[in-house]
Amino acid sequence: MDIATTPPTERRRIALAAVKELGPQRTEQAVLKVRCPASHTVAAVYKTSAGTVVVTASGPGGRGNRDREAVGHHGDKLDSQFVDTLEATQFEDDAIPGGCACGPRSLSRKKLQDAVATHAHVVNLT
Ligand SMILES: [Zn+2]
Repeated sequence: MDIATTPPTERRRIALAAVKELGPQRTEQAVLKVRCPASHTVAAVYKTSAGTVVVTASGPGGRGNRDREAVGHHGDKLDSQFVDTLEATQFEDDAIPGGCACGPRSLSRKKLQDAVATHAHVVNLT
C-alpha cells in the first residue's frame, strides 16, 4: 500500500482487514501498548501485512458503544474501534482518537511512531 496516494478511509479499511488477519490472539503480538495511569490499555500497535497498525479503544460514551453491546461475547470488537496504519500522510491530523474507562483520550501519532522506532514496548500516559 502506498500511504501517500491511498485515501485515509481506504487505508483504514485495509488496516482493519490486516489486524483481523492476526486472529483473536493478536494482543500477544502487540509491539507496543499504550496505558493510562490506571493501567487500562488505551491503544495497541501491531505489525501486519499492511504495515504497522494502531488499534485504539474508545472511552465510555464514545462512538460505537451501542454497537459494541450488539456484538456477541465472542464477536470481534474491532469494528467499533479506531484502526489505522501508524504511518499517515503529512496532511492529516497528528491526533488519534482513543480512550479507556477513565474517559476519552487523544493520542499523538508521532509519539507512537517514535515509540515503535525506539522499540519501546509500553507508553504510559500521564
Ligand atoms: Zn483508564
